[in-house]
Amino acid sequence: MKDLVQELREFAKERDWEQFHSPKNLAMALVVEAAEVVEHFQWLTEEQSKNLPSDKLKEIREEIADVMIFLTNLADKLGIDLLEAAREKIEKNKKNYPAAKVRGKALKYTEYER
Ligand SMILES: [Mg+2]
Repeated sequence: MKDLVQELREFAKERDWEQFHSPKNLAMALVVEAAEVVEHFQWLTEEQSKNLPSDKLKEIREEIADVMIFLTNLADKLGIDLLEAAREKIEKNKKNYPAAKVRGKALKYTEYER
C-alpha cells in the first residue's frame, strides 16, 4: 500500500497535478469514478450482473482501479492510513453486526435490537 501511495505521489508530482489534488477535488473525482463503475451495471438484471462478458469485466476493472487510485489519493491527502482505517472499520462493523444476530438479514444496525 505504501508503494502505491508513493507511486501516486510521484505520478502527480511529475505532472504538476498536485495543485489540482485538494481533498474536495479528490472526493469529487472519487465519486465520478464510482459512478463510472455503476454505469456498467445500470439496467442489467441481477443475473446479467453476475455473468459479465470479459470485455465488460475488463472495462469495470479499469474503473475500479480509478476508484482505488482516487480513494488512495484522498486518504493520503488527509493523512489517513487507508488499510488501518479499513481494518478499524471492519472491527466496528463486527461489533455493530454480531453474526449470530444479523445472519441472513440486510438491516442497518439501527434497525434491529443489539
Ligand atoms: Mg474512469
